[in-house]
Amino acid sequence: MLFREILCNNNIKRKLLSSYHNSMIPHSQFFFGKSGSPNLVLAIAYSQYLMCKKKNKVDSCGRCESCIKYKKFTHPDLHFIFPLASVNKTKPLSINFIKYWQNILLDKVYFSHFDWLNLINLENKKSIINVDEIKNLTRKIYLKPYESNIKVIIIWMPEKMNNQASNKILKILEEPPSNTYIIFVGNSKDELLPTVLSRLQITYIPNFTDSEINEYLISLGVDSSKSNVISKLVDGDLSKAISLTANKTNDSVLEEDFITWMRLCFSLIKKNNSNDLILFLGKISKYSRENQIIFLSYSLSIFRDAFMTNIGQKNLKKIIFLSENFNFNKFSSFINFNNFEKIVNLFNQSILNLERNANSNLLYLDISIKLCYLMNINLKKN
Ligand SMILES: [Zn+2]
Repeated sequence: MLFREILCNNNIKRKLLSSYHNSMIPHSQFFFGKSGSPNLVLAIAYSQYLMCKKKNKVDSCGRCESCIKYKKFTHPDLHFIFPLASVNKTKPLSINFIKYWQNILLDKVYFSHFDWLNLINLENKKSIINVDEIKNLTRKIYLKPYESNIKVIIIWMPEKMNNQASNKILKILEEPPSNTYIIFVGNSKDELLPTVLSRLQITYIPNFTDSEINEYLISLGVDSSKSNVISKLVDGDLSKAISLTANKTNDSVLEEDFITWMRLCFSLIKKNNSNDLILFLGKISKYSRENQIIFLSYSLSIFRDAFMTNIGQKNLKKIIFLSENFNFNKFSSFINFNNFEKIVNLFNQSILNLERNANSNLLYLDISIKLCYLMNINLKKN
């Protein structure tokens, strides 16, 4: 992975490069950014740069023997640790899943924790980084590097370390060997032990902007009208954008479903009619889980636009609203400061629950009733 292949804020690349040029590379770092941000790719590009034998001032050469191994993520001095789940009470080690890991990197580069668990068929299990993983690292870390003069350990999703593992890694962070660099790459700081966090130099990696995502999708050959819609749906998450791109869902189907859903919610409020709503939700819950996540993300974007319209903001994401039978301005009047944040939380939590295999039928009924309630409060006020 070369720096120039990564579409992101150049200030971050400059900061990483200057730590090398000033010989101030921290031994323990945390590349902290949301899911779908370039945090993992930057950690890989950075470690490749540290080991490249013919680097220039701003990038690795891409051709030396070290870089060639980095291309396949097989450099023997680059170690990865990632979350896994126990099957039949055995504690799995990353080293035993390294082929899958290399494959997902070769295949996608940008992927979520959910994509990873899905690949190794553990999406229904609770994944952790267990203490045996860190014990194994402790043994490895004091050995000499194989080919380079340094070793890099990338710990992906360190927030999944359990307490025992965190306490164990703390010992390493307190006195790391001089030729070893440890890079945590994760989405959340709050779940790390404060004692661990205090040992790490933190680099915040921002999400992609809508236009960067759009540009990236177009470079993959995605049709520009489709990339335009997707880039506005995903809130800077490139891994989500990539999985939506692969999906065949048609924009007009999304729009039609959204309009039907909202009509039925309103008719639940006004006419106390729940039968049609329940039938409709039954249809939606038969969609593939991926399509259901797309539908909820899409719906959330419409609510966002409606809120912006209602408070008089002009910078709408303008997903799509072609249908003439839907009065968007009237709909917008129901979304305001009293309910918008709650609606956002409701959708985000539901998407998470869907990813964790929640029962879709119940989930949609729950969202619908809560939406009715949230919008009904407003109806009474008006
Ligand atoms: Zn090189």
